[in-house]
Amino acid sequence: MLLNLKALSEPSVRLERTYPPSAFEATDEFTVGKPVELVCDVEKIRSWYQLAGHLATRLQVQCCRCGELYDAELDVAFNLRYVSEALNTGTNDVEIDGEDLTVAFYRDDQIDLRQLMSEQFYLGLPMKPLCQEGCRGLCAACGKNLNFTDCECSIKWRDPRLAALDGLLKEKSSK
Ligand SMILES: [Zn+2]
Ligand SMILES: [Zn+2]
Repeated sequence: MLLNLKALSEPSVRLERTYPPSAFEATDEFTVGKPVELVCDVEKIRSWYQLAGHLATRLQVQCCRCGELYDAELDVAFNLRYVSEALNTGTNDVEIDGEDLTVAFYRDDQIDLRQLMSEQFYLGLPMKPLCQEGCRGLCAACGKNLNFTDCECSIKWRDPRLAALDGLLKEKSSK
């Protein structure tokens, strides 16, 4: 998945590629669940390469409340400026003309598209992935998934507003 910059036939080319899920390693946060479609314009501008496009796929994500895996459709747009790593002074003070752009680095005249896509997956993921709005999570006492079943513990009635507060505190302390 390396894009060879020396082999670009024109100063501006469009990439349209599809990668199988098996091309991406599963991470703790997600597994790629269907082929990844990448559409990207690559443009040589002065000393850098501009990569603008989007990618679409489906990720299998773990719900942060109940732990179940669920499918999340992902469609993210990106606009990245790739600067040669040789120009990276390590202080992140690359001139970007005050534009709101993300700067990335390439080396050996190659851009690592796998790395680009993996980063976009992370950026596209919700901060707190939920399998459904209002996921009921796991019973704090017996660990049963309350989306699927009511356990004995929950027969004891609790003020739902207190329960919601518990949830908030729990999420905070697990950070
Ligand atoms: Zn859930
Ligand atoms: Zn229970």
